[in-house]
Amino acid sequence: MCGIFGVYGVQDAAALTQLGLYSLQHRGQESAGIVAVDDTGQARASRAMGLVSEGFGDDEMALLRGPIAIGHTRYSTAGASAIENAQPILARVRRTHIALAHNGNLTNAVELRRDLEDQGAIFSSTMDSEAIVHRIARAEGRSPEERVANALRGVEGAYCLLVVLDGTVLAARDPHGWRPLVMGRLGDGWVFASESCALDIVGATLDREVQPGEIVAVDALGMRSMQALPAAPINRCVFEHVYFARPDSTVFGGSVDRSRRALGRQLAQECPADGADIVFAVPDSSNSAALGYAEASGIAYELALIRNHYIGRTFIQPTQAGRIAKVKVKYNPVRELLEGKRVVMVDDSIVRGTTTRGLVSLVRAAGAREVHMRVSSAPIISPCYYGIDTPRREELIAAQMTHEELVRHLGVDSLGYLSIDGMLSAMPKEPDGYCHACFSGRYPTDIPSEPELLRAGGAAPATAGMS
Ligand code: AMP
Repeated sequence: MCGIFGVYGVQDAAALTQLGLYSLQHRGQESAGIVAVDDTGQARASRAMGLVSEGFGDDEMALLRGPIAIGHTRYSTAGASAIENAQPILARVRRTHIALAHNGNLTNAVELRRDLEDQGAIFSSTMDSEAIVHRIARAEGRSPEERVANALRGVEGAYCLLVVLDGTVLAARDPHGWRPLVMGRLGDGWVFASESCALDIVGATLDREVQPGEIVAVDALGMRSMQALPAAPINRCVFEHVYFARPDSTVFGGSVDRSRRALGRQLAQECPADGADIVFAVPDSSNSAALGYAEASGIAYELALIRNHYIGRTFIQPTQAGRIAKVKVKYNPVRELLEGKRVVMVDDSIVRGTTTRGLVSLVRAAGAREVHMRVSSAPIISPCYYGIDTPRREELIAAQMTHEELVRHLGVDSLGYLSIDGMLSAMPKEPDGYCHACFSGRYPTDIPSEPELLRAGGAAPATAGMS
């Protein structure tokens, strides 16, 4: 999963992009990068592993001049976590440049890469996104948008793209619309971002979503829109609203805070916890849902778990013992609120179950008498091939255990998940326009024939590695 941000037509576009990336940090913490293009057409890139705040010193920023910039925060789902896979990609082709930032996962990346390699293309990364750069370099077209449209025909899966092609900034969204992308105005300029919270930080006003299948181009000739790709069923990712996006964002035309509260209210209706004394969230992604649960159930909302904000997802522990220790480093219970209480703990999702298990033992050790776990989404039973980093089915705990086994394994007094229909009823726009494959196992498209190779970006397994 990743965050993308772009600016056209505002001086110091790179400085704005850096600000925008701060607001998209939650979408990826492995690496960050900016490509800027100055008034003479010179493109420069700066990329670094780690957080946005660590990546760009004054010296780097001073080099990134000009009125055009795109940026990227990365959380790897295809290709290893390594500097050669940091984006935006910047390629020099026929005396000009192609820069590209991608959010999503291509489902035919292995085939695309093989075809290009057979034609002599050389790849410098293991990212699926690099295949798109090669295709743009080879594509014909009377305009930049036509060229990108031609390059994208035959590319399958999830993508939101920001491309800079010879002085034109292009924004493209796949015809299924899995990932979010919005555009806004800043003076006479244009700003593009994965989420609207990144428009807010630069003072841009939200104009609209880039539509599924649409390519928007902005350059000296103005803004143009092209419904470039054949229409397809809409499959917005429900997990963006459940977990991934920030609650202060508008995603798929609706407020994430509003939908999370609705998820919480629906959860209280479907899975009540009669007689409980307090309800609390696993902060921060569940705060809004827990508020919704408290509101609908009438149970008092408390801040019974405190999160250390200096521990990010980069704090990776490969072993199970390490993961439990990680829970302790990240969360601490407020004993005074928990002692002797029957508590409802709300989280947005359970993936491997390690977080829940660790938290339940922390909460019990702090004196809770009963722990009732409530989850504001359905059980995750299938991997995602469209850009969310979910592990293989064997590691998804809800795919491996019955409800009773889960209750025992997690150590809870009761466990309640939201139904898929309940989850969809809380979403903005019509419920049948969402992808819920990770919850239902119903994939809206063909799934990759070689998923492990796909996770490695289609590169030979010897060079592959996932974070
Ligand atoms: P787990 O310990 O594997 O069950 O992780 C569940 C926790 O991770 C929940 O608190 C979620 O908020 C969070 N989470 C869910 N999906 C993801 C994801 N794709 N990447 C990182 N964290 C996630």
